Amino acid sequence: MNVLIIGSGAREHAIAWKLSQSEYCDKVFVAPGNAGTTCFHTTASIDIYDFEEIAKFASDFNIMMIVVGSENALVEGIHDYFQSTEYLKHILVVGPMKLGAQLEGSKDFCKGFLQKYNIPTARYQTFTEETFRNAVEYLRNHTYPAVLKADGLAAGKGVIIAKDYEEAIFALEDMLRNKRFGNASSKVVIEEYMQGIEVSVFILTDGKEYVLLPEAKDYKRIGEGDTGLNTGGMGAISPVPFADEVFMQKVKARIIEPTLQGLQAENIPYTGFLFIGLMNVNGEPYVIEYNVRLGDPETEAILPRIKSDLFELFRALHDHTLGSYKLEIDPRTAATVFLVSGGYPEGFEKGKEISGLENVPEDVLVFHAGTKLVDDKLVSSGGRVIAVTALGDTLDAALAKANAAAEAITWQDRYYRHDIGFDLRQVSAR
Ligand code: ATP
Repeated sequence: MNVLIIGSGAREHAIAWKLSQSEYCDKVFVAPGNAGTTCFHTTASIDIYDFEEIAKFASDFNIMMIVVGSENALVEGIHDYFQSTEYLKHILVVGPMKLGAQLEGSKDFCKGFLQKYNIPTARYQTFTEETFRNAVEYLRNHTYPAVLKADGLAAGKGVIIAKDYEEAIFALEDMLRNKRFGNASSKVVIEEYMQGIEVSVFILTDGKEYVLLPEAKDYKRIGEGDTGLNTGGMGAISPVPFADEVFMQKVKARIIEPTLQGLQAENIPYTGFLFIGLMNVNGEPYVIEYNVRLGDPETEAILPRIKSDLFELFRALHDHTLGSYKLEIDPRTAATVFLVSGGYPEGFEKGKEISGLENVPEDVLVFHAGTKLVDDKLVSSGGRVIAVTALGDTLDAALAKANAAAEAITWQDRYYRHDIGFDLRQVSAR
């Protein structure tokens, strides 16, 4: 069977790597892909928003399954397009339709859903330009820090944690009146700040039954010690020591099950991954956000820990047998470190020649993101460039290997955080 993966990041490289190990998978295509996915059947010319073009490709290459890596195509309705087109209906799309994708596509929708189904989350209220004055009043009486979120997709940049009233008003004006994020900030969610440690939980679900995947912790800030600007993600660790059985039992009972019940009650069909961003507040899980796809870089840490055949897992999704599916998980720790261009997430230069890949030990996985081949040379073509993942019997062993591999790969001004997972080392040592 032929599979098409939509996206161009390290997440899609990791999905392709995992799927290509399946005996049931004949050809794996990645569109548009990157230099790392050229070992699969990369199709660089496809525009991921041009569903007609994707459909044509799917028929030409006998694609039976499409795995959508990033949220944008889902929010734009790629699954709806395939579902509503007679000759494409038989293709299994891993990723929800537009209705379900709203869980990520609209923070106001997400918060309303959480509140309606009594799922623990921070208290909030939503405002528009028309209710700007009420928002100012709301912020006057708010506790600080306060969190302001643009309603729509803003590539992880639409969240402002305001330390005081002045900062909050500035952010509010910027989003609602100056349309900082265009239509995405025509509504703003203002919510309470939660103090805790974050963890990313993933399920694969058909809207009723689900399989719990390994959890992960990601590192969003650019600087060591979790400082500086937010990025797409600088590294990830799986498993997360504090996400023990007691904690995960709470996550299942208070969050996953009510979420699925809520989807059914709202008649929202759902087929795909659901990524639940959680805050552990003194041992109690609260939802920060839902994402309707896997995370990047979490995918690069969790897929290497899944021993089961990913294609079989997708087939169980299709056959509605996820409830009885036994996922086999490698107990070892996976550590992922992202190498990025110097200057990222602000201005950075592209086109730098990358060297040292031949010095990476064989048992370390290398997943490409912003890379391309120019005259047979591997060069950087984005902010986040390459992710390396190592497995180890302990967190320290995994980190030592991943950091050594990160050090081996180099180009002018490349940067990576040397402290990924260090906070968890302290947690495990306590
Ligand atoms: P991303 O694309 O990075 O997932 P996003 O734009 O979808 O982000 P959120 O995940 O809702 O937005 O928020 C981004 C980050 O802001 C969270 O990972 C968390 O670190 C912080 N954050 C969001 N809401 C809260 C909150 N209520 N209390 C504390 N921190 C928060």
